[in-house]
Amino acid sequence: MRLPPLPTIREIIRLYGLRAEKQLSQNFILDLNLTDKIVRQAGNLKGASVCEVGPGPGGLTRSILQHGASDVLVVEKDGRFLPSLELLREASEGKVRIIKDDILKYDMETAFPDIPKQDWNGDIPNIHIIGNLPFNVSTPLIINWLEAVSNQNGPFTYGRSNMLLTFQKEVAERLVARPNDPQRSRLSIMAQYLCKVKLSFTIPGKAFVPPPDVDVGVVHFTPRIDPQIKVPFKLVEKLVRHTFHFRQKHCEKGVMTLFPYDRSDLTQEMFETSEVHPTLRPFNLTMDDFARLSYAYLHICNRIPGIFEYNYR
Ligand code: SAM
Repeated sequence: MRLPPLPTIREIIRLYGLRAEKQLSQNFILDLNLTDKIVRQAGNLKGASVCEVGPGPGGLTRSILQHGASDVLVVEKDGRFLPSLELLREASEGKVRIIKDDILKYDMETAFPDIPKQDWNGDIPNIHIIGNLPFNVSTPLIINWLEAVSNQNGPFTYGRSNMLLTFQKEVAERLVARPNDPQRSRLSIMAQYLCKVKLSFTIPGKAFVPPPDVDVGVVHFTPRIDPQIKVPFKLVEKLVRHTFHFRQKHCEKGVMTLFPYDRSDLTQEMFETSEVHPTLRPFNLTMDDFARLSYAYLHICNRIPGIFEYNYR
């Protein structure tokens, strides 16, 4: 769609006095070539429903509209941006719906009441989640949404909606890191066992206003039909978190913290059943190794009541 002539984002910021708030880690993109480049990574948006998280003054929102989205739900926590978003709502003839809320609390299950729900094994729904969020929000948010992928609820009640989100470059690299990569971490396993994850490109910090101290990675997620580990999310999360407790040590040391001190037999059982080598470092482990460790852990948790709740601290 073609939007009617509008003030530039820089003019919008000046017009509405939208000084970036440091506490909300606000860094805006004013260059619409860059917002177009980001939005292109989401794929074909013709007729799509999009949830944009943290639209701020609306640069990305404009690109989303111009790439053909027919329904753009924007969720913005900071009320100062509402007038500039309202301007976009009018210019787009009502294609923008505005929600003032914290995305960490907003219930996305009811966000697109008119969209038919797709079978998980079927086509990808024409719903996209797009956001350039503050770094302190994007990491807890992706963990929440990965859990929602595994439960097929929240934004994924509609099917395998795709996500395109920005992260601090180092976090983006962790999300896509393969075995033996020094960046391989808890986030790599959690994201990759549930989604196909792609680091589309990185943006230098200086492209934002005001510029953050770090560069930014644009990451695309497509939920997998079949997760690579088939046990409940919380169990994978706990196993992976403990395994990475001691990054540079043998993975056995982290796994040991899942069990009481006097149950080293259970750690031994984990490695024997899974046939994972206990002297590998956590970042050497493949997805298949984590899957076999998860099944061994699930088996122990099912057999010994209360063991999953054990907290070594
Ligand atoms: N998308 C705009 C852009 O690219 O120029 C703004 C990006 S700025 C980094 C992040 C935006 O997210 C800000 O508008 C901020 O107010 C908003 N935000 C921060 N925390 C949020 C939250 N928990 N829920 C919704 N919006 C949030």
